[in-house]
Amino acid sequence: MSRVYNFSAGPAVLPEEVLREAAEEMMDYRGCGMSVMEMSHRSKVFDEIIKEAEADLRDLMNIPDNYKVLFLQGGASQQFAAIPMNLMKNRKAGYIITGQWAKKAYQEAKIYGEAVELASSADKTFSYIPDCSDLPITEDMDYVYICENNTIYGTKFKELPDTKGKDLVADVSSCFLSEPVDVSRYAVIYGGVQKNIGPAGVVIAIIREDLITDDVLPGTPTMLKYKTQADNDSLYNTPPCYGIYICGKVFKWLKKMGGLEVMKQKNEEKAKILYDFLDESKMFKGTVASKDRSLMNVPFVTGNDELDAKFVKEAKAAGFENLKGHRSVGGMRASIYNAMPKEGVEKLVAFMKEFEEKNR
Ligand SMILES: *Cc1c(COP(=O)(O)O)cnc(C)c1O
Repeated sequence: MSRVYNFSAGPAVLPEEVLREAAEEMMDYRGCGMSVMEMSHRSKVFDEIIKEAEADLRDLMNIPDNYKVLFLQGGASQQFAAIPMNLMKNRKAGYIITGQWAKKAYQEAKIYGEAVELASSADKTFSYIPDCSDLPITEDMDYVYICENNTIYGTKFKELPDTKGKDLVADVSSCFLSEPVDVSRYAVIYGGVQKNIGPAGVVIAIIREDLITDDVLPGTPTMLKYKTQADNDSLYNTPPCYGIYICGKVFKWLKKMGGLEVMKQKNEEKAKILYDFLDESKMFKGTVASKDRSLMNVPFVTGNDELDAKFVKEAKAAGFENLKGHRSVGGMRASIYNAMPKEGVEKLVAFMKEFEEKNR
């Protein structure tokens, strides 16, 4: 068996310990004679899996009792519609446009009501987080929406925007469980798990209870109504059982690692290794404002497309996979999620140094 260092933005690297455990349990989950993939979502065994996953997540994130945790399908992209359908009582909401995912959410919301662009960093290819200390938020807005970590551009909100008392909705797909958060500052926190938690197919939404009502936009599908999912403990229909099972294992792994405070330290350490090198290199350059740098997604360029391509190719041959930047921005991007070991980042930087010397 040989494993590469996988810098994919998503689906992404998972802890080896979790994969090994899942492999061991593949044919016979804890003596029940079948795989988790094969069992009823209404069985007692699966009930324990999903309940334990929720309890561990609540523990890790310190989720207050007045928040529901939902395990959903449809990807983060499905939530771009579900959020306005469930929350746009006045049919008006503010969006902060910090990249492609925020923009997609904003465009989707426009189908259902008035989505207002409160701020944007499109003027500089989303290479920074705009000042959000005094946004043009109006009294009739139902919520303010952000994409907290911009997977493609590599920026992160280091401070939450001043929402002037309005509910904050955040897509945290690519920074989920990378550091502690104060859940009570959000109305909805949600994300696809395939970036920093588990396999594609599961979305976790953490929603303040008072927002889960029958008062949704006309035409909202039953499945997209948060109340349907909440009333049925995410088991209204068949949930993505195997994905939830793997997420549960990752939660246990995170707890064993010491929790989110420890993960934050580790992530800061890993990111520093790469950013410090980018700051001193004469060939490789980071592409975003230093103050807004993401701990999870690190885009960089040489300034020469041919050299970029050569780097990606040689890195791949050396066992560093998926370093090509997003098709919309080019260059390179190293995603260094929770499950990427520090050693992977150190080795990548050593490889980059060597490449720089050879190609000067
Ligand atoms: C990947 C990503 C999405 C899209 O996720 P899907 O599950 O493919 O719909 C949305 N938002 C962010 C921040 C992402 O990184």
